Formats: sequence, C-alpha cells, structure tokens
Amino acid sequence: MSNGHYIFEGHDTVDLAQKYGTPLYVVSQDKIARSVNTIRAAFATHGITDYRINYAGKAFLNIAMCKIADKLDLDLDVVSGGELYTALAAGFDPKRITFHGSNKSWQEMKEALGAGVGTITIDSITEIDILNEAAKQLGIMQKVHLRLSPGVEASTHEYVQTGRVDSKFGIPISMSTRAARRVIDCSNLNLQGLHCHIGSQIYSPKPFEIAANAMIETVYNIKEMGVELSELNLGGGFGINYLQDEPGIDVDTTIGTMASVINDQVSQLGIKMPKIIVEPGRYIIGPAGITLYTVGIVKEIPFIRKYVSVDGGMTDNPRPALYGAVHNAALANKYDMEKNDLVTISGKCCETDTLIKDILLPAVELGDIVVVFNTGAYNYAMSSNYNRICRPSVVLLSGDKDELIVKRDTYEQIARNDVVASWL
Ligand SMILES: *Cc1c(COP(=O)(O)O)cnc(C)c1O
Repeated sequence: MSNGHYIFEGHDTVDLAQKYGTPLYVVSQDKIARSVNTIRAAFATHGITDYRINYAGKAFLNIAMCKIADKLDLDLDVVSGGELYTALAAGFDPKRITFHGSNKSWQEMKEALGAGVGTITIDSITEIDILNEAAKQLGIMQKVHLRLSPGVEASTHEYVQTGRVDSKFGIPISMSTRAARRVIDCSNLNLQGLHCHIGSQIYSPKPFEIAANAMIETVYNIKEMGVELSELNLGGGFGINYLQDEPGIDVDTTIGTMASVINDQVSQLGIKMPKIIVEPGRYIIGPAGITLYTVGIVKEIPFIRKYVSVDGGMTDNPRPALYGAVHNAALANKYDMEKNDLVTISGKCCETDTLIKDILLPAVELGDIVVVFNTGAYNYAMSSNYNRICRPSVVLLSGDKDELIVKRDTYEQIARNDVVASWL
C-alpha cells in the first residue's frame, strides 16, 4: 500500500519522515550494492579480472559506510587524517586503504604510514622527498602511486585536452619519468603504480579512453627506465543522472573502452597487464541517497514566484549554492497527484539558499514532505552548521530494515568547541 506516498526501495518515505523527523537523509544499502554490481559486471564483460574498485570516501564517509564498503569488497580512498581515522575506527583493513591528497600534512603522512595504509598516492614532486623522510623515520617501506595529470580535463558535458594541465592536482604527465626516477631513488618508497583522476560528473567514455592511453604509455616509459609497474588507477568521476531526462554515464561502455585501450596497448608495447583500479564516489553513493524535508512557510508573491521553504537547505545540501547544481524533487505525501504548482524550493538559512528553482509540484501546503533525489554524494559530506543549524541524521535502509547510521546534531554538540577567553 503506497497511499500515494513515495516509496523508496520498498520503504514509505512519509513513514520514515514521521519516525525519524526531518530533515533526514535516507541511504539505501541495496542501491549501493547494485551500483557496485554494475561496475563489476562491466569489468567481467570486458574480460578484466585483475581489478579493484576503490570507494572514494570523500563523497560520503562514516563508520557504517566503511562497513558497507568492506562488505561489498570495495577498497577505500581517504584524503585526510579525519577520513583515515574514520576508516580505522570502523576496523577497515588499512592494507585496502589508499591515502590521497594534494597537501598532506607531515602529521597526516605519519598517521597514514603508521597505520600501515596499503598505498599512498603522491600528488606532487615536492611530496616525494617529504614522504620518503617520514617513511624513513618510521622505518617503513611504503608502496606508492604517482598521481599524474594526463592532459585531459573532463566535466559534465565536455572535456578538454590540454598540453599543460592547469590544476593543483597531480604531476604533469610531461614530468612523469622525472618524478618516477626521483621516487625510484628514494630509500623508503616503492613505486608500484600510477594514478589519475580526470574530473567529476563525466558522461562520456572518451576522456577515460584518452587518459587510459596516456597512462599506459607512461607505464611503458617507466618500464624503459627499468621499473615494471603493476597497478594503474584510472580514478573516479563516473557521472550520474541528477534529472530524469539526463543520461548518467554508460559504465559498461566506459569500462569497455578503457579495457580495449589497455589490452591493445599492453600487447603492442609488450608490458605486463597491470591491475586496474577505479575509484568512483558519486556513482556508488549518489543515487543511493535521498533527502526528506518538511514544508514550512509557503509564500506567494503574486505574478512573480511561489516560495516553498523547507526545514533544511544549504546546510545539508550546499551543491546548488556551490556549483549551481540541479536536483529533482517531489512531494512524498502527494506522489501520485497532478503537478500543477510551479514553485521554488528554498532552505531555511539566512541566505538565499535556493535548493530548486522553478519546479512543478502538486499544490504545496505547510506540512508536506519534500523528497529531493540523488543526494547521497557530497551532501552530508559537505554539510555544515551554518546558522548553528543541526545537521540531519542519516537512516540506512537494507531490505525491509531501517536504522540510524548517523545521529542528528544536538545544540550541545554545536557549542562543544566553544571556549570563553579569560577576559570575558
Ligand atoms: C573526488 C575524487 C574521486 C571521486 O570522484 P567522483 O566524481 O565522486 O567519482 C576519486 N578519486 C579522486 C582522487 C578524487 O579526488
């Protein structure tokens, strides 16, 4: 029985809103598993058996999510001491963690080395000697990858190929052999692979093809220097479908394209087939999450606009404010009713925090439940306490079960780091 309610993965979202309160993030473990299976199926179809999927934790990370990644046999990417701490607190095997970051602190390097993370991805020439020194101090031989910028930058609808990559991330591919030499000469670093990550929200296989090609060539160049690399990480960036009428990336074609480039090049250049790694974040968690809000004030400015204010906003979903991102929404309690009310959904922050501009919904009233789709990635992860608003809780669904995995903030937590200077 749906009562005209929006049912998400078998769960009545109006019931969830009542049970847990709003605003509320809802995450489906089954959907996460299906996305992972799509990627696995693509690797299988295209004959790549030696591969790993690293979940890019920055998209959505907490202890429960680490456990889910583990259950699904995903490896984990972390980009900060805090993410590493979370993974370790979840009992995640450090050997299956990759530590990224374009400006790792000395402290973070030591934490990662000390924890025994499997791979550290070196992001710059400068980092090489610093990391080596840290490893030496701890008496550790650390497996590393070099992050390269392969001269293709991709975003949602287009990609550009540039000779010189203007980015804070990675070592320009033109400097790759120099960087590799420097790592090889380090006493405590063991260069085993290369990494690239060419952008986010990519829909086309083409930029992945160009990147794979350039990266394999670099594997060959490094082999010529006497070191045969065994791993190639082609990054994340698989785009998802934020609006129903936009296509997400075709994962099968994309991995198929990567696979054929890699297979061709490997046999042409006579190199050993490396283990292929991908590290999607958004593709795995984005569609698995929704946000539920309750409608408060509805303000009609005659002939101009009807504002529908919900009980969250840029504090739980900063993407529209930050990137001009678009999301789709519906009324969860009037899901089967005709949509004839053109409204703008805004948040409750003291800021013009428009969540969705001009969307058709059924006639909106105070107390209605708004569901915003595809909010699993970069929502909770980027949430804030702006206006001293409590961040929402997160409920996990699995089959017919629902349980909290992140509690709602309390006012006490919001003020917990405040201290009073002695003269006040
Ligand atoms: C952000 C990031 C990812 C994940 O990107 P998505 O677009 O979420 O797939 C993967 N790898 C690195 C190094 C990143 O910085």
